[in-house]
Formats: sequence, C-alpha cells, structure tokens
Amino acid sequence: MSTPLEFLQSVFGYAVFREPQQEIIETVVDGGDALVLMPTGGGKSLCYQIPAIARKGCGIVISPLIALMLDQVKALRQVGIKASYLNSTLDADSAAEIEQSLISNDLDLLYIAPERLCQERTLSLLGRSNIALFAIDEAHCVSQWGHDFRADYLQLSILHQRFPKIPRIALTATADARTRKEIIERLDLGHAKQFIAGFDRPNIRYRITLKINAKQQLLRFLQDEHPNDAGIIYCLSRKKTEEIAFWLQQQGYKALPYHAGLNSEIRADHQSRFLHEDGIIIVATIAFGMGIDKPDVRFVAHLDMPKTIESYYQETGRAGRDGEPSDAWMAYGLQDIIKLRQMMASSNGSEQHKRVEQHRLNAMLGLCEITSCRRQTLLNYFGETQEQPCGNCDTCLEPVNTWDGTKAARMALSAAYRTGQRFGVSHLIDLLRGAETEKIRQFQHHQLPTYGVGRELEINQWRSVFRQLVARGYFSVDLEGFGALRLEEKCRPLLRGDTQVKLRQDNPRRKAKQQTKNVLPAEIDIALWEALRDCRRVLAEEQKVPPYVIFHDRTLQEMCLILPENLAEFGRINGVGERKLEKYGPVFLQAISTHFSTRAISEH
Ligand code: ADP
Ligand code: ZN
Repeated sequence: MSTPLEFLQSVFGYAVFREPQQEIIETVVDGGDALVLMPTGGGKSLCYQIPAIARKGCGIVISPLIALMLDQVKALRQVGIKASYLNSTLDADSAAEIEQSLISNDLDLLYIAPERLCQERTLSLLGRSNIALFAIDEAHCVSQWGHDFRADYLQLSILHQRFPKIPRIALTATADARTRKEIIERLDLGHAKQFIAGFDRPNIRYRITLKINAKQQLLRFLQDEHPNDAGIIYCLSRKKTEEIAFWLQQQGYKALPYHAGLNSEIRADHQSRFLHEDGIIIVATIAFGMGIDKPDVRFVAHLDMPKTIESYYQETGRAGRDGEPSDAWMAYGLQDIIKLRQMMASSNGSEQHKRVEQHRLNAMLGLCEITSCRRQTLLNYFGETQEQPCGNCDTCLEPVNTWDGTKAARMALSAAYRTGQRFGVSHLIDLLRGAETEKIRQFQHHQLPTYGVGRELEINQWRSVFRQLVARGYFSVDLEGFGALRLEEKCRPLLRGDTQVKLRQDNPRRKAKQQTKNVLPAEIDIALWEALRDCRRVLAEEQKVPPYVIFHDRTLQEMCLILPENLAEFGRINGVGERKLEKYGPVFLQAISTHFSTRAISEH
C-alpha cells in the first residue's frame, strides 16, 4: 500500500506536506480520532481525503455547505478520486444510484449534509456499508455561540455511538478556546488527538484606514492594487451592497450584489459567476461567504466595521487561500462605532449577552485604533503570541505616531458634561472651536467656559479625538439615534488629572508603501501566461468547473518558469498529479510549444 506521502505526490501532485498534515493523516489512517484546528487555506481537506483513499471503505464527509459539494466533488474527480455527494438537491433516482455505489464499495469519498446524515434511513445505509472514516467539516457549527450554529450538528455525537470503531476527524478554522471545548464535548471527542496549527495568515496584509470618503477610497484601492482581481466587499446593509455594486459597475468593474434578500436564483447565479469567472467582485452582507472556498480571492474589503474580531478574521480569511499575497482592507470611522454601539444597546438579548457582545465590540474597536502591529493583536486575541511585529500590516509598514491627547480629551469630556450630555459630536466640536451656529446661539452655548477653548485643533483632529474616546469607552452614545455623548465612569481619573491618554495620530493619506501589487514574477512571459490561462478557461468551460479546479495560478506560473518540454518534466510541476498529467499534460505542452513557434515566426 502507498504511504500518505506517495498519495500526496501521485494523486495531488504536491511535493511535501505542510505542518501538521502528515501527523494528522497518520493518526486517522491508524484508526485514531483527531480534532484539527487550522487556518483557512491551511490544507484541511487533504487531512481527510488522503486517509479516505488510504483506508478501506468510503470516507464520509459531513459538511453544511451544500452549495459547494458539487464543486468539491468535481475537483476530486479531476485527480481521479471516486467522489459523490448526497443532499437535498439530488432527485430520488440519482440518490439511489449513489447509495448503491456506496454499498458496493465503489466510492472513495461521500459528502453528506448533516440533516440527511442524522436520518435513520441514512444511518442504516451506513451500517450496511464499508466506512473508512467520518470527517466533520466546519465543526464549529456545533457551537451555539457562533453565528454558524446548525442544530443538526448537535446530533452528530450519534456517529460515535453507532460506529464506535470508525475514526472521526473534526475540522474547523475557528480559533477560540470556548468553541474548541464545545466541539470536544458535543461531538464526544474527549479522546481525540488535537492538532492546533498556528492561526496566522502571513500572506494577508491587514490594513485599516480612516474613512473619509469611503467610495472614493475604495475606488482608489481597486484601481491601484486590484484592477482585474476577484474580491469580496462587505457592507452592513442590503441596500448598500446594491448601491455599491451598481456604482462599481458604472466604474467598469464586474461587481455583483449578494444578500439574503435577493431571490435564491439571483444569489446562486452571482455566487456561481464569482466562482467560475475571473475577476468578479461580490458586494455582500455577511450572508455571503460561509465556506466560499475559492482559492484566488485577492482582496476582502470592509466598508463597514464587523461587530467582532471573530467575524473580521473569518471574513478577511476568505482572501488568499492559495497562499498568494492578498489584502484585507477596511475603511472605518466614527459613524461605524456609533452605529454598532447603538445596534448593540437596542438589541433585545439578555444583559449578560449584551455584556459579552459589548466586550467583543470593544476588542474590535481596539484593533482599529491600535498603533502597534495589527497581526500581533489579532493573534493575541486568539491566544497566540507572535514575538516580532509582522512587517505585513499597515502599522508595521508605516508606523503611526501618537500624541499626548490628555488636554484635548479633558476639553472634549467637559464640553459634553457642561452641555448636559445631550449633544452629538458635531455640535460639541462647534462648541470647542467657537463656531457661530444657529444651535450654539439657541442654547446659549457661547456663554460656556469651554466655548472656543479648542481652536488650536482642526475639525478633523477633533473628530479623531472624539472617535478615539468613544472607541475606548470614555463616552457612550445614547440610544435615541441623535448620537448624544454621555460620560462613562472611566472618565473620572482623566478629569481629575490622575491619568493621561495617548492618542493615535490619524494620517489618512498614507499609502504609498502599503500597496500589494499582485504582479507576476518578473521572469514570466506575459503572453505565454495569457495563453495558458486561455487554455485553462476553455477546459474549465467544457467541463463546467471553476478554472482553479483545472490548475491553480501557482501551477500555471510554474509552467511559465520551467517551460516543460515533455510529460516527465510537466509531471514534476507542483499541482500536477498522475491523473492531471495524463489528462492535461499534452494540451498544455502543446499550448507552450505553439506559443514559442508563433513567436519564432513573428520574430523572423
Ligand atoms: P482549508 O480547507 O484548510 O481552508 P484547503 O484544504 O482548501 O484549505 O487547502 C488550501 C489550498 O492549499 C488548496 O488549494 C490545496 O490544494 C493546497 N494545499 C494543501 N496542502 C498542500 C500541500 N501539502 N502542498 C501544496 N499545496 C497544498
Ligand atoms: Zn504588523
């Protein structure tokens, strides 16, 4: 029998395992249970795919992502693995056919939706079949805390009761310890070996920029850095996703909206175009993305701030699963904080729930406002330490200055206090800067001692002060929607002069050093690259699969660099296993040689 490494090379065409794939695979091949926590793009799928082909019988994969099963199955068939799926999209005849091939040992891998798996009918079918393993993908769906909770996942402990001898492997990219504990308890995985890979996504560049004119900032970001790339833009409201998508279309981008209010056909169409065409931008609410495993998403942009670091990390994590440089870009400002604080305060959860939410929002705000490395803060939040600043986030690339904001903060607090804590930021800034407005006269605020004491700071600087004071919880924002600022307990020592505050010096125009241009390696012949991409596109269209299912960009790039002349050389390229060598080697070799002969002719 082949070793896991031999399978990796011959089937998938990869030279070496990544950490800790090999150990996981060996554990499961030997019949042990495993709990795998690995970041998105870390290579979780191979951890159950290889044991499934190495062990006798069929590997059963439980996944909530019905929409993706077909593409996953197609990708596996491309490398010669006998894969299928059972879910509600199949008609009875096709389902019966698949069940039959399971019983007659004719499958390597079978994807099943959790609600179907838990039916007695399915369990008895499994009882009559030869099962290699159970893989429980997206295992965090058992967690009632997370927003991906699936009630059906709670029933999955039944697998252990019904099939105690069959190894189980649970996989997730969700990092926090509480979720991990829940997975172990609910899936009865107390004895499983745990594999916790680092959560860092080193190829993602984190940037959080101050929101001034979000649309123009977004446009500049796209023009300068991602003119033809696929990406996701997240907005808070459905209306805004449509508005932004439409506006981007007018600017010449292939942008499509996606939210839960669109009818399911449109949603499916937009998702499918995103997966199958090059360079589509999806403008979406959080309804989009769960399990989108398109590997070449080059950027994730946030036009509104997510409520928690967990969401931020999960959403930004959809960029760069293929390991190539990618951007997580966000524009954020005072309005985001006010909006989220209000949403949270007016939600009708329990007090304890609200406190937890408040705490998580504060952590998110902290991430936006820090002046040190963003990645260190992110990883730290998930309980991981990274000794050195990362060098691949905005604050590392262009360090942010701080200034002593104690005096300004006190002025701001006292302006709010002396006006009865009934006014919002704009009016307080007018007051501090001694503006002569209708409202100032109406409330006789020009007679207050704080009137005009803050002329030395400009409006933008004051906005920055207020934003940071709200973000850090010195001020709370009232519920009625007028955004009046109230002083919090935390202000006391500051007003008494017992503490100081250091504030971030905002500088929204920084950017030069931060651009990630996703340029091809300089040695690559662009015309050849385009020719190979065309070749891939034609093959993908013929088989109705996304282009990356044929070959990843990385594999095409290697072809351009190595310029293989025969099948043996072609077979050594990363991502070319035996099946793809046989199926696609001749076509791509032909494309390469055609490219050189036409070039030779045109040069003569
Ligand atoms: P995850 O499910 O953890 O998000 P995937 O299993 O989709 O990640 O893997 C991400 C990408 O990395 C895929 O394109 C996969 O083919 C590739 N990959 C996984 N393991 C290896 C490896 N050992 N060598 C090279 N590429 C790998
Ligand atoms: Zn950094």
